[in-house]
Amino acid sequence: MLPIAIIGLGKIARDQHVPAIRADGRFQLAGAVDPHAQSDDVPVYPDLPALLAAGAPAAVAICTPPFARVAMAREAIAAGLHVLLEKPPGLTVDDVTGLESLAREAGVTLFTAWHSQEAAGVDAARDWLSQRTIEAVRVIWKEDIRVWHPGQEWILEAGGFGVFDPGINALSILTDILPAPLAVESAELEVPVGRSQPIAGTLALRSGDVPVSVELDFLHEGVQSWDIEIDTPDGMLKLAMGGAELTIAGETITVGTNVEYPRLYARFAELVARGDSDVDLAPLRIVAEALEVGVRREVEAFAFE
Ligand code: NAP
Repeated sequence: MLPIAIIGLGKIARDQHVPAIRADGRFQLAGAVDPHAQSDDVPVYPDLPALLAAGAPAAVAICTPPFARVAMAREAIAAGLHVLLEKPPGLTVDDVTGLESLAREAGVTLFTAWHSQEAAGVDAARDWLSQRTIEAVRVIWKEDIRVWHPGQEWILEAGGFGVFDPGINALSILTDILPAPLAVESAELEVPVGRSQPIAGTLALRSGDVPVSVELDFLHEGVQSWDIEIDTPDGMLKLAMGGAELTIAGETITVGTNVEYPRLYARFAELVARGDSDVDLAPLRIVAEALEVGVRREVEAFAFE
């Protein structure tokens, strides 16, 4: 069993990582690092040196907000630990390629874990699309920040990714299922007064000759939408619920249970066993480009309460 620690014992760590690690016989949850969190369940240390002093694990899953991820990963790799990076894997593409080199030199595994790529409908969607002509793609990714990220001020601050925090999940699915690489043509981003990250945005992308429109909204109340629609001459393929549900030409396709995090840990265990890394930067590249070329428009101030 591989002793593993979680760095950043927040919402996603408690909701998904802890249960997925506990359910996978190849891992043993050895502890957590978090400056303030408490747990009855797992020993929590204030920083990585304190965790290492208590007995080094073999691996860490870094589940902090993205701005803290790369520094923690550098420390972990320097300590000889295998590293799973929650998404987004870092703030910049260069940050993560730097980690990839460090991991290679240290002989440890680095895994950029894009959980939405493991959603139940994604493999079947990719297989079906690989035999078809794609005419147009639409992403409609609209959720209520107050429901899904209550009080997470960091998300709208520098390095928080704003509406790209959920939006990058859609992009990670697209980069996985579309045959041609994605490129950004234009982006319009709405940034609340006093914040640095967008709360909504529309992107025009291309995958080869295929137009890809992306609507992102973090202020959406009512029915939430994490949908991708893809037009083909054989009908529309629709991935809904973040990739968990698949319909093709109006017919529901059976895709099995949605077990994104168990699949991520299975993949991490295989990578470690083989001595390999898996570093996928394509979704981060698109977001970096959109933030770079996007036209920013200031909108009404946002407060969680
Ligand atoms: P969160 O609830 O704010 O949890 C982050 C935790 O990391 C907090 O306990 C935070 O402590 C701690 N932390 C901050 N800096 C740290 C450091 N240097 N060392 C150790 N711990 C540190 O955020 P979250 O929702 O879990 O999201 C974390 C990451 O997971 C994000 O990149 C997000 O995109 C990804 N994710 C989230 C979800 C979701 O549904 N929430 C789903 C999939 C992926 P303090 O609060 O004291 O700063």
